[in-house]
Amino acid sequence: MAFLNDNYLKLRAGYLFPEIGRRVTAFCNANPEAAKRLIRCGIGDVTEPLPEAVREAMHKAVDEMGARETFRGYGPEQGYEFLRTAIAQHDYRDHGMEVADDEIFVSDGSKCDCGAILDILGAENVIAVMDPVYPVYVDTNVMAGHTGAADETGAYAGLMYLPCNEANGFVADVPSERADIVYLCFPNNPTGSVATRVQLEAWVEYALKNDTILLYDAAYEAYISEPGIPHSIYEIPGARECAIEFRSFSKNGGFTGTRCAFTVVPKSLMARTRSGEKHGLHALWNRRMSTKFNGVSYIVQRGAEALYSAEGKAQIKALLSHYMGNAAILREAVTKAGLSVWGGVNAPYIWVKTPANTTSWEMFDRMLNEANVVITPGSGFGSAGEGYFRISSFNSRANVEEVARRILALA
Ligand SMILES: *Cc1c(COP(=O)(O)O)cnc(C)c1O
Repeated sequence: MAFLNDNYLKLRAGYLFPEIGRRVTAFCNANPEAAKRLIRCGIGDVTEPLPEAVREAMHKAVDEMGARETFRGYGPEQGYEFLRTAIAQHDYRDHGMEVADDEIFVSDGSKCDCGAILDILGAENVIAVMDPVYPVYVDTNVMAGHTGAADETGAYAGLMYLPCNEANGFVADVPSERADIVYLCFPNNPTGSVATRVQLEAWVEYALKNDTILLYDAAYEAYISEPGIPHSIYEIPGARECAIEFRSFSKNGGFTGTRCAFTVVPKSLMARTRSGEKHGLHALWNRRMSTKFNGVSYIVQRGAEALYSAEGKAQIKALLSHYMGNAAILREAVTKAGLSVWGGVNAPYIWVKTPANTTSWEMFDRMLNEANVVITPGSGFGSAGEGYFRISSFNSRANVEEVARRILALA
């Protein structure tokens, strides 16, 4: 019999979203009437349709695929030049950051890239994650054999957890110990927190001092509304020597089902071999993508490119103002209900403290049974998330207004 990857067996059973699904299904089966008024504010998926500029560009690309003269087969594994240039220009160079077209690697999603990046990093690295954390960073390291077993709180041996709490405003402090790899996510999922320039400068300083690589997930960058908050790690001098940035069209352009994202690997970013020689990671990632990936569909890349047109930018703005309008309504309702709330200003997620002596899962059950609203228990993102829950603003306005009424009725 063949051997399997034992590391998969270390993954904690009852993973967050399956467990939510199980409880919601059980509730709906037991309460078919209440099930009809169920509103989901749980999973981080967008609800509004794809912008018109994107659809037009994709229709045109479909027609090109239908004519021999303009048909495209395999494209470059790293992404078409037209998209890499648009990204590097609009997202970076127009904002004063030095990023070359060929430092952009287009992919079918940031979730995939966050996992795949481990292909080019060594197995002996000390890995640090924030707690609470987007589970993908942790689980991909478990699968790769970079951890020991999980304890009863779900924390894996061998990982460095950086607690995020009210005291630090849900932005991890730079630790006193060194790590080789640190995952940072701002604006944050699940807490909705953002890091200030000063905080990111401290992280870059830490990384340069310790030869640490920062894996910077900026999937929610477009939601930043306050001036002065960095949108990219490359706004910080020195970041080109220590950071990889992940970005996605999922949350700004509504591409969660269409699939397109990108990763920035600066050519100045180095790591070392076991024997101590320095090598650039850009060449390794390029090799990894050419070998294990065959590019994103031409049609989808044309759709993503259209997000950078004047119409596309205006349509993104409309989507963001819809979701952030939802966030404002939810924040207000939760505050009126007497609960403490974070996030929802520079991120689509609202992070709420449960009432005294209520665990995250008790709050989940209460919201499900009494308000028929599905939220996400904070403890599912890590032990530091215990005592909190996440409400997502990804919804229709009517649903959000109804959720706000039900939260007030509960209070
Ligand atoms: C939604 C999300 C992403 C984007 O993932 P895609 O695979 O590009 O859809 C990345 N990081 C975080 C933290 C997210 O919540």
